[in-house]
Amino acid sequence: SEPLLSVRDLTVTFPTPEGPVRAVDRLSFDVGRGRTLGIVGESGSGKSVTSMAVMGLHTGAEVTGSVTLDGTELTGLAERELNRLRGRRMAMVFQDPLSSLHPYYTVGEQIAEHHRVHFGSRRAAARRRAVEMLAEVGIPEAARRAGEYPHQFSGGMRQRVMIAMALACEPDLLLADEPTTALDVTVQAQILELIARIQQERSLAVVLITHDLGVVARVAHEVLVMYGGLAAEQAPVETLFAAPAHPYTRGLLDSLPRLDDTDDVPLRAIPGSPPSLLTPAPGCAFAPRCPRAAAADTDTRERCTRLRPRLTRSGDHAVACHLPLGKATP
Ligand code: SF4
Ligand code: MG
Repeated sequence: SEPLLSVRDLTVTFPTPEGPVRAVDRLSFDVGRGRTLGIVGESGSGKSVTSMAVMGLHTGAEVTGSVTLDGTELTGLAERELNRLRGRRMAMVFQDPLSSLHPYYTVGEQIAEHHRVHFGSRRAAARRRAVEMLAEVGIPEAARRAGEYPHQFSGGMRQRVMIAMALACEPDLLLADEPTTALDVTVQAQILELIARIQQERSLAVVLITHDLGVVARVAHEVLVMYGGLAAEQAPVETLFAAPAHPYTRGLLDSLPRLDDTDDVPLRAIPGSPPSLLTPAPGCAFAPRCPRAAAADTDTRERCTRLRPRLTRSGDHAVACHLPLGKATP
């Protein structure tokens, strides 16, 4: 069947005083109903900009390419139309629920108001719906807690409130940007389980944005690894973990904590810093940090630093690298 969300050649460019910054460069991906796409990358990789662009939240940026939701083209839609779709068909959950919740209204009022705006429901019905939603996302004593204010909730419970708010309008697509980053490990696992459960029950398409491959391993079906605004690698989650082809993905995997690690083994972070988007290098964005390029012969290294690798697809696995792993060094 047709994917619910289809993104083709999405490019987002911000004008800055120093010149244009291309934060996302010709990105393409699909997300089906009941599927979760994990978008992984460091800060500045373009993953958040991608989700904002999908939601149509990019005033000031130049957005080209195509974003279709259930066959409807979203790029170029009028703000009024987009507003109608946001909430009704697609919803977003952020890292910091406190900044998205109003401090002076009870969480019940906020969820109910959201529901009223998008569905035109009556006050009493919207209130009932808010309590139902709080119960559905696992908040105990939902009826009582609906009358409490955001600051009376713990971080994890607040994130549940945000998820309840997102789901109150029964969207088809949920975009979650680092939804568990601010939470401790146990609570993080609970929130990921909640997202997975709700997704199954409602057959939602989910885009989960994270810097943490560990999070991706738990919930994603497909993975898109971004680097410097570009797709570095795309694959089903099992393939990505079993046979990563891009040296950057390999580096991310190597820096994951492992169960068999003893506590005193330091994690291996990828040395170096993310590329400049203002003055992108002509070759592969990862070249200055790439151990594979560093170990290669001069000709190969030249190719890495001079020629941008194209995203090459074989089946459901795509990689942008002149020297993908799993292939013999020429
Ligand atoms: Fe490394 Fe070259 Fe592949 Fe870029 S193209 S990831 S520099 S091997
Ligand atoms: Mg971000």
